[in-house]
Amino acid sequence: MNNIVAIVGRPNVGKSTFFNRLIKRRDAIVDSVSGVTRDRNYGKSEWNGKEFSVIDTGGYIKGSDDVFEGEIRRQVELAIDEADAIIFVVDVEEGVTPMDAEVAKLLRKVTKPIILAVNKVDNGAREKDAVEFYSLGLGEYFTIAGMNGSGTGELLDELVRVL
Ligand code: GDP
Ligand code: MG
Repeated sequence: MNNIVAIVGRPNVGKSTFFNRLIKRRDAIVDSVSGVTRDRNYGKSEWNGKEFSVIDTGGYIKGSDDVFEGEIRRQVELAIDEADAIIFVVDVEEGVTPMDAEVAKLLRKVTKPIILAVNKVDNGAREKDAVEFYSLGLGEYFTIAGMNGSGTGELLDELVRVL
């Protein structure tokens, strides 16, 4: 597989909503060896003629961040290993959480392209709220609303540029 994009982030930020918007076709889950790989959805997508595979992580992780910190960390580490680019989704409604900071710390060490997606930016006021995500130390971010597709075109332009 070439051009693998992994979507990571803590539960409920909107990873799967965004994934479902991106994919044209969902692949069968091929690897049933470990719990970590089972807990992912695979799909194929394309933007401006460039095809890529998308992995949605953390499908079965539900509940509070602290209980599942280890699981999220494993998903992020796996994504770092195998993806060509990583989309890190955070939630403007919740703001920066300690778990977001943990994930950012892992991602800051990575030389692969990291795209920070501030999700649930459904209106202009939330655009201003998004500035707090600069504190994650990942630089520029994209504001999106996975639910209605707002902002996702700009993010995808950048994604296929860096892939
Ligand atoms: P995941 O756990 O990260 O995969 O998150 P989900 O995709 O399951 O979404 C978690 C919740 O956030 C659901 O109730 C979604 O409807 C909601 N959600 C996702 N995207 C948006 C968005 O752009 N705006 C708003 N307001 N809610 C969203
Ligand atoms: Mg999900």
